[in-house]
Formats: sequence, structure tokens, C-alpha cells
Amino acid sequence: MFVDLIARKRDGLSLSKAEIREVISSFTQGIIPDYQMAAFLMAAYLNGLSDEETIEMTLAMAESGEMIDLDFLGDKAVDKHSTGGVGDKTTLVLLPLIASCGLKVCKMSGRALGHTGGTIDKLEAIPGFRTSLSMGEAIKQTKEIGLALFEATEELAPADRKIYALRDATATVDNLSFIAASVMSKKIAGGARRLVIDLKVGNGAFVSEVEQAKKLAGLMLKIADRAGLKCSVALTRMGEPLGWTAGNALEVKEAIETLKGRGEPEFVELCLNLAAEMIFLTSQAESFEEAKKIAQISLENGSGLRTFYRWVEAQGGNPEIIDDYSLLSEAKIKSDFLAEKTGYVNYFDTKKIGLAVKFLGGGRDKKEDHIDHSVGLVFHKKEGNRVEKDEPILEIHTNSYDKLDVADSLIKESIFISPEPLGKKERIVREWLRNI
Ligand code: URA
Repeated sequence: MFVDLIARKRDGLSLSKAEIREVISSFTQGIIPDYQMAAFLMAAYLNGLSDEETIEMTLAMAESGEMIDLDFLGDKAVDKHSTGGVGDKTTLVLLPLIASCGLKVCKMSGRALGHTGGTIDKLEAIPGFRTSLSMGEAIKQTKEIGLALFEATEELAPADRKIYALRDATATVDNLSFIAASVMSKKIAGGARRLVIDLKVGNGAFVSEVEQAKKLAGLMLKIADRAGLKCSVALTRMGEPLGWTAGNALEVKEAIETLKGRGEPEFVELCLNLAAEMIFLTSQAESFEEAKKIAQISLENGSGLRTFYRWVEAQGGNPEIIDDYSLLSEAKIKSDFLAEKTGYVNYFDTKKIGLAVKFLGGGRDKKEDHIDHSVGLVFHKKEGNRVEKDEPILEIHTNSYDKLDVADSLIKESIFISPEPLGKKERIVREWLRNI
């Protein structure tokens, strides 16, 4: 009886592998009603799952739908995942960069989630870009140009989709076992045997504390081991929006600028580090340093940008956007957000900055919500920069004066101006954890 399993979890006892599998498969098949699964999730949230239970839950979730096999792409095939943040357009730069270095990425991605943006939404800001590809199309394209990126189908880890919806409605999202199982089940089902995870830490991420992030990384690596994946996790800073922009079309433009060699330094550093790790993980370089040089050359000699062009063209998008940004949608209203006083900028609530972008129309509350690709924020000042009174800190792009007022108040609540310079800025990549 399922109620006995709920009671065991409520009392802090462990479940066997077979019992965990039963929970996941019965819920996915609709045998267990939402109210019982909600009770199970809350009991597991409060009492925790052991590592063994988490691993078994992940494998059961991965196996709840289609399991893709990408082994035939060979040992240069690799995948990447970010746990999500504000202004995170890394995939748009990283994928063409590593494909131009000879790696193969056949990647599925998601849409905006809460205050964080989604790569699929960003790519749809490119006129004509098709984010829905059949597996056959994606594989053919990966073989031809080294990369394909498309929206995960309903058949990929359906257990995660159902469980995530229930977690969202029962205040059980921020549990390390659940987050690890959610991310890793989709990656295991996605078929890559090598995986680099960008685990964001800070006030704009799912995980705000370094110690928590390390625990999550440890759990992900244990799951990867059991599933036979070579995996590296980078703990990277999400204590302020990433790069110069947040908002779909604005981020596409910034990604192109970065591939043209004009990226914001910290963002460029993140892309090069992740690219290096992917090159190293696929044994295409003797060391991380050598791998980073390979990535740097591809950025500097324009091969990353040329691969971006081929990628957009291959997925039906208009590659002319690379030379003509006016082909991307642009908001009608642009309004400066001015510094109230002289001092040093501190984005102390990055999550709220992400919510401001969502409120402007750049994200969604419900799956069906329409996204306005043109809206967002352009940052003129980054954390620690000096600002004079009435100098613009950032620019709000919107299509509605009503929304401008609300976004303006959210931003006001999120930025603090310190009278003294802030301490030394943390490194963008704090630490690497690997299972190789
Ligand atoms: N991203 C996911 O895919 N799942 C989570 O639970 C959190 C972040």
C-alpha cells in the first residue's frame, strides 16, 4: 500500500530500491494520485533522502520515458547543463565555440523557469529559428555542423515533468536530492556520456550558499558515477546578472558580440573555462590549460562566430542577424534607471532583477504564457563599479509604461549603493569538482 511508504518516509525510515522505483513508476503512470505523491514529497523533503534513495530515484526518473543513445557520435560527444541564473546566455556562446573545436553536442534544453531565463526562449528570439527538431534531424545536424539544440520532448523523463509541477505547488523545489534527481534524470535520458555542469551559486541562483552547492555537486557526481557518465561540476558565481544583458533578444545580441570578441570580461572567462573543461573531458587536450588555449583561439579567429552562423542557418533562423541587429525585435520604450546617490554598485538581490525581467514579459508564470522577446535590461554598471548620483546604472527595455513603473520599483529594491568600495570580487569559477 502506498500509504505505508508515505508513513515510512514520514517516520524518517529508508525505502528499498524497489520501493523507490515503485513510487516513481506508479506516480508517472497515474496510479498514485497527486495528493499522496505530494505527501510523499513533503515527507522526503523534511526527513531527507539518502544518497542511495536519491540515486535510485534519479535512475527511475530517467527510465520513465525515452532513453536516447548518443554513443554512435563517438568520444567527442559532450553535453552541458546550467542550473540557471539571470542573464545566463552561456550556451549560445559555448556551443558554437566547442563545435568549432571539433566537439559534438546534441543537446536538449528548456524554457524559462521562475526568475531564470531559458535557452529555448532565447533562441526563439532569432527570427525563424526552429527549436522543435526530430531526433533524426538533430543527429544529422550534429554530424554535419557539430551541434544541434532543441526543446526536450514530453517523452524525455516524463516523471520529472510531473514531479516538478507538484514540487512547484507544494513548496518542495529547493531540496538538494530533488534538484539533483531532476537535473541528472534528464541528462541521463538525453544520452550524452560526458557532461559539464555549471552549478550557479549566489543570490540569483537556485542555491545561494557554497556549502549547499558543494553538497549538490557531490550528489550529482555520485549519480553520474552510477549512470556511467564522465562528469565535471563547476561552482560559478551568480551574485549579480551575468554579462551586460538580461532578456531574450538582448542576450542573443550580447552572445553574438561575445563571439565577435567584444564580450564582458567575466562572461568571456566563464565561457572559456566551460569550453576548456568540455575539451579536456573529451580528451581533446592533455591539460585544462591547453584546452583553454584551443577555446581561446577559436574565439579570437572567428571560428566560433562562423559556427554560430551555420547553426542559426541550419535551424531555419535568419543568420543575417549577426551583421544586422535591427532584425531582432526591439522594445519601444527605453528608460534609464538612475543612481540615487554616489557610491559603488551592489546587486544584492539578483533574483528580484530576474523577476523584473519576467514581469516585463521576458519570462513566464505559466507554461502557456506568451514571451515578449524584445524586453529586458541592459546593465551599464556591474558589481563594484563606481557610480555618480543620477548616472544610469542600467536601461529598462519595455513595451508598456505600466510595467516600467513596477519593474523600476523591483530594481530599486534589488540594487544597493555602498559608500565604500566593495571587497575583492569573487572569481567567476570558484571550484571544479570532477569524477574523472
Ligand atoms: N533545474 C531543474 O531542471 N530542476 C530543478 O529541480 C532545479 C533546476
